[in-house]
Amino acid sequence: MNNKQMVERDLDVLWHPCTQMKDHETLPMIPIKSAHGVWLKDFEDNNYIDAISSWWVNIFGHTNAYINSKIKEQLDTLEHVILAGFSHEPVIKLSERLIKLTPEGLNKCFYADNGSSAVEVALKMSYHYHKNLGKERPIFVSLKNSYHGETIGALSVGDVELYKQTYEPLLIRSIQTTVPNNQTKEAALEAIKDFEKLLKERSAEIAALIVEPLVQGAGYMHMYHPIFLTEAKKLCEQYDVHFIADEVMVGFGRTGTMFACEQADITPDFICLSKGLTGGYLPLSAVLTTNEIYSAFYCDYSDNKAFLHSHSYTGNALACAAANATLDIFENDNTIEKNIEKASYLAKKLERFRDLENVKEVRQTGMIAAIELQGYEASERIGLKVYQHALKNGVLLRPLGHIVYFMPPYVITEDEIDTITDTAFEALYSLN
Ligand code: PMP
Repeated sequence: MNNKQMVERDLDVLWHPCTQMKDHETLPMIPIKSAHGVWLKDFEDNNYIDAISSWWVNIFGHTNAYINSKIKEQLDTLEHVILAGFSHEPVIKLSERLIKLTPEGLNKCFYADNGSSAVEVALKMSYHYHKNLGKERPIFVSLKNSYHGETIGALSVGDVELYKQTYEPLLIRSIQTTVPNNQTKEAALEAIKDFEKLLKERSAEIAALIVEPLVQGAGYMHMYHPIFLTEAKKLCEQYDVHFIADEVMVGFGRTGTMFACEQADITPDFICLSKGLTGGYLPLSAVLTTNEIYSAFYCDYSDNKAFLHSHSYTGNALACAAANATLDIFENDNTIEKNIEKASYLAKKLERFRDLENVKEVRQTGMIAAIELQGYEASERIGLKVYQHALKNGVLLRPLGHIVYFMPPYVITEDEIDTITDTAFEALYSLN
């Protein structure tokens, strides 16, 4: 089988995510035969560096020998069991570890199987908590330009027009407050004023604030100062509104600390985790919350206060084994410390992009780097041109509109960082 034959078979039967399928009349998709480390290999033995960690999930490389071995071990013991009324060791162990790793005060883990579902769980739990206390609070607040997933609830609290606009009539109630417009402290303190004003006026109707801490991913890699989170958390406490940290993208070391909330020194009421949780191997998500919130659901069956939310694959044992293996690697390899060096190497490689005329801004938070382009109309599909140039040169980049970004697996070497940044530079230079 060569690439062309695979693509023909694919197009006959598949409908791909986040894709105008007609594009594939002219833009060939790449069927991947195998992958190892940061490298993907197609059916004609072309290699590509996965500079975006396969939609931000893969942190320790593809077919990682250690994670593979742990999943194989689990496979012969227990693949899956219903999590209602039953339990298993991998899920218990994972919960114990997540509680230790996340900010102090998060004491209970609830599982789902993708990032959007984690967001749904947190939204429903927050609403339901208030209801169990006799308060009706049907509105959620999120930040302008935020993204929290694409199921109906998650989409409702998002604010990226591209995903949201079509479904507007189907969505639940939410309000978007100002996001700091850059990474300075001043911008953060300015934006917080709008949130305070909103709470003063409407806190009695608001269940929770949900944020992507430090970096808004699908919202064009927009970054802001941690003080915004510190101040927003204080206000949430003052007005009895929950704080939901959606760390689906930023969790597990992406921003330089294990969790982004650590940089703001806060404990959210809920933290949503997914993506890197299983090292990018298997679908799994977790929502951690406080004993106080858990207690509001804990009563006699007849009181009708239980949290009824379930997915068939909740707490899947293979996914939990992958997650435990991922956490082992963090522990054994000093990943967070090593990432500091890698992130600073990446920072050096980004410097020369600032000299390009078509570059408006270069920004970075830990192992996320973004280059914002200027001077192009949306109809020019400039991101697509960069994508195509990079692919031809063996790099998988997937720009978000006019934002070219790097979010590589942490196992990337300095030579490989050279390759991805040099390739992007050539692509942008050739567009000038
Ligand atoms: N929240 C954030 C911050 C995300 O970046 C994403 C996915 N990009 C999601 C939620 C949704 O996760 P999933 O795609 O697994 O549903």
